[in-house]
Amino acid sequence: MDDPRSHLPSVSLLLEEPDIQDLIRIHSRQLVMDAINEALGWYREHLKSGDAAPVQRDITAKIEFFLRGIERDSVRPVVNATGIILHTGLGRAVLPENAAKALGSLDRCCNLQIDLETGERGKRNAMIEKLLCKLTGAEAALIVNNNAAATYLILAALCREKEVIISRGQMIEIGGSYRLPDCILESGAILREVGTTNKTHLRDYEEALGENTGAILRCNPSNFRIIGFTSEVPIADLASLKKKQSVLVIDDLGCGALVNLECYGLPREPMIQESLAAGADLVCSSGDKLIGGPQAGIILGRKDLIQILKKHPLTRMLRVCKLTAIALEQTLRLFLEPESLFQKNPSLRMISMPPLKLRTRAQKIRRTILREKLPFQAEIREEESATGGGSLPHAVLKTFVIALSSPTLSAERLSSLFRQNEPPIITRIKNDQVLLDPRTIFEDEEKYIVQALKKIAGRSHDLQS
Ligand SMILES: *Cc1c(COP(=O)(O)O)cnc(C)c1O
Repeated sequence: MDDPRSHLPSVSLLLEEPDIQDLIRIHSRQLVMDAINEALGWYREHLKSGDAAPVQRDITAKIEFFLRGIERDSVRPVVNATGIILHTGLGRAVLPENAAKALGSLDRCCNLQIDLETGERGKRNAMIEKLLCKLTGAEAALIVNNNAAATYLILAALCREKEVIISRGQMIEIGGSYRLPDCILESGAILREVGTTNKTHLRDYEEALGENTGAILRCNPSNFRIIGFTSEVPIADLASLKKKQSVLVIDDLGCGALVNLECYGLPREPMIQESLAAGADLVCSSGDKLIGGPQAGIILGRKDLIQILKKHPLTRMLRVCKLTAIALEQTLRLFLEPESLFQKNPSLRMISMPPLKLRTRAQKIRRTILREKLPFQAEIREEESATGGGSLPHAVLKTFVIALSSPTLSAERLSSLFRQNEPPIITRIKNDQVLLDPRTIFEDEEKYIVQALKKIAGRSHDLQS
């Protein structure tokens, strides 16, 4: 049989092609050479004997495809039409405008670690720590890279070779293979499980207390719920055990709410300030879940303990860069002004968006689609958005979506074409329809939807003719 791979042109022949010469003028010879090698490699891997050998036009298109790879696969803005607010795949929390602006100012130097008064070396993250203490009533604060790092640091610095008591109902796994028992093991602490999956009582903790107890760890089951015949022990009761024996009470809150979301019909989420007031010695939380800032880990609590953490060698390894510090500081500043907080913090704004407003927006988007007489069916449907990011898994966020379908394209194909749009639009599929949820779409992004549909309609017309 004829092997089409033997008909592939050589690199030197390709370099002489006029189309390729044009590409070299735009992209440089080295980049084009790399793309030629990638394209030929692709053909060698994918062509089977019996296949037709590719013609020059196909080969050039393939080379261009690999040339555009860096641009195409780079991290860049996308439209989140999924209705999942803290979408891990889309970077979790959308930064508030003031935080994004502050990041934009970083094309210049900043006073990250200098005291402007004295000109001496200053304290890094001093303002963030001050803000956190003010907002939560904590004695002291420390910032690290993420909450996984925060938990690990606390355990490694304060509980090494000591027992950490934790309820079997709180042995969590978070996306990205973060598992609490592994974290405890790696930290050098000794895991001491108590209770059962559904019920753990105060006496379970009490009976487990011993000479080698380092801490009681409560972990917020932020991404799942155990319902039915259940009970867990509140922080205040765990703190009451400190009267019997000196032991640390650590609260891994995960989502870390700084404001109460119950007035928006959301389930009660433990708040950082409440946990501290109830007697937790240390509380840790993510910065990019319900706080709505950049990825970060926040540790709050007793000054003497934070002081030990700050001196630990791991802290230098887990410290945040100026990008995170600046974005987090700006995000936290919004919490000082509760009246404008829900308007200025996009995660909280999206969480609290009223269903009636969402319906109006969905209708508006639908009307613009209909006006263009595009070959798609668009209907408004009541649905649910999600908080995402492993937070509030049982929250019901009523919304109204535009449900799209096409007589010629499957929902998978349509959503894939949306992703290939510029900017890419990320959608959700349900019952063979593509759903667009206005909750996570910014109003100035609405225009991209119709633009994308026009392009898709034009393309599928090309394909048919
Ligand atoms: C999300 C979460 C973590 C991990 O936090 P990251 O900031 O993503 O590292 C740890 N524990 C709990 C309880 C969480 O909810």
